[in-house]
Amino acid sequence: MKKIIIFDTTLRDGEQSPGASMDIKAKIEIAKQLARLGVDVIESGFPVASDSDFKAVKEVASLVKGPLICGLARAKKEDIDICAKAVVPAKKPRIHVFLATSEIHMKYKLKKAEDEILKQAAYFVKYARNFCDDVEFSPEDASRSDIDFLCRVVEAVIKAGAKTINIPDTVGYAIPLEFGNLIRTIKTKVPNSNKAIISVHCHNDLGLAVSNSLSAIQNGAEQIECTINGIGERAGNASLEEIVMGLKTREDMFKCATSIKTEELYKTSRLVSKLTGIVVQPNKAIVGRNAFSHEAGIHQDGMLKKRTTYEIMKPEDVGFGGTRLVLGKHSGKHAFKERLKKLGVDLSDEDLVKAFERFKNLADKKKEVFDEDLLTIVEDEIVSVPEVYRITGFEYRSGKDIEPRTTVELKKGNAVKKESSSGDGPVDACYKAIEKITGLKFKLLDYSLKAATGGRDALGEVSVRVASTNGVEVSGRGASTDIVEASAKAYVNAVNKFLFTKQRKPTQTP
Ligand SMILES: [Zn+2]
Repeated sequence: MKKIIIFDTTLRDGEQSPGASMDIKAKIEIAKQLARLGVDVIESGFPVASDSDFKAVKEVASLVKGPLICGLARAKKEDIDICAKAVVPAKKPRIHVFLATSEIHMKYKLKKAEDEILKQAAYFVKYARNFCDDVEFSPEDASRSDIDFLCRVVEAVIKAGAKTINIPDTVGYAIPLEFGNLIRTIKTKVPNSNKAIISVHCHNDLGLAVSNSLSAIQNGAEQIECTINGIGERAGNASLEEIVMGLKTREDMFKCATSIKTEELYKTSRLVSKLTGIVVQPNKAIVGRNAFSHEAGIHQDGMLKKRTTYEIMKPEDVGFGGTRLVLGKHSGKHAFKERLKKLGVDLSDEDLVKAFERFKNLADKKKEVFDEDLLTIVEDEIVSVPEVYRITGFEYRSGKDIEPRTTVELKKGNAVKKESSSGDGPVDACYKAIEKITGLKFKLLDYSLKAATGGRDALGEVSVRVASTNGVEVSGRGASTDIVEASAKAYVNAVNKFLFTKQRKPTQTP
């Protein structure tokens, strides 16, 4: 069976989702999970964008074994030099060079004519080959480019040494039949197209990213660029889990296979959601909370008689195993560590001590501790951005005819500051106290609270999305059995993310 190469760009395009910034530790954790999931290529960042992007790509390249590690670069010397330094520690490095080829991008963004673009693309693909054998090229906005010009560019960059040609639908404009035809045309019209892998990268602005990618496969594409949970710029990218399960469930149609261990899909989705703060919608295909729930009585009856009456995939196939009781109050550190290992989590000794302490506290409050709880604790310890502010003290009172009042103590470096405030409810009071300490004002755009597991003693997980006065949006999350404390943690996490995001320079990418 034909193999489809799965190129995951969660750490690059996915990280460009508004508010999704992750720090190096979070990126490494996700990259390790992507390796366990069995992706072929990890695009781990855009090294020239910032120092922290550079470091993240380099660390992933040095630490993560298995997949090919790729970095993104514009068709510029500076970008390629920096990208090369970042990916070279990998056993299998790749440099991904891009340059726009559509009239609108060439005329207004790049202010260059066709011939100049053609030369620049070929020149920098060749230049990148000095550092690494594996070079990929993307003609940005390919789906809105003139087809004859696009074919000339593809031919030239293959000649210059590109081994993969990625055709992006950068703005999510294509529709499946049209996009499939584009891939077929490139495969038939470009004389040396058989010397390169043809890849696609689809955006979801019209909700067609997965459909367009599958149509491309039916027309000869061999690599798909996608992200976990479909996160990415604007409406996001093609969702990895949907592509993979589409190919697997309809193998009869596609006659293709991937190397993905599908039982790892749900866990990966969860980890990415936690570390980016982007919540998965309940009705999301494959990994949404409701993806395998049957509500209608007639469906439930059918399911009981024979599962396949209403089920085309088994929840176990994607690792949607339900919660399992694992540990209790008397479980020791060894059992804790072993269970984490089974869940695919490998913590440093220092983090393990912190996580175990959290587990003990939780087990005191909550009789039964489930896998979901353990993952929540661990994800809390893998702080997604540097902790500029940390909560060191917390107290509130509220009730009928009592004015809600919250006192918060935050630590920044060695300085500890304490403030209290009243408000419309304890959460509002708490956010006002945090505002007093940090001096940062945010508008709360979204607030959600959910239980990590069933039961009244469950850990509460709070996600917030806030906007600064100059319009920068960030998200944050926090967990605790005390929901006001979880709310405070989520808000402080958002503050820390905001401070982290400020250092980055945004750049346009495919
Ligand atoms: Zn993209």
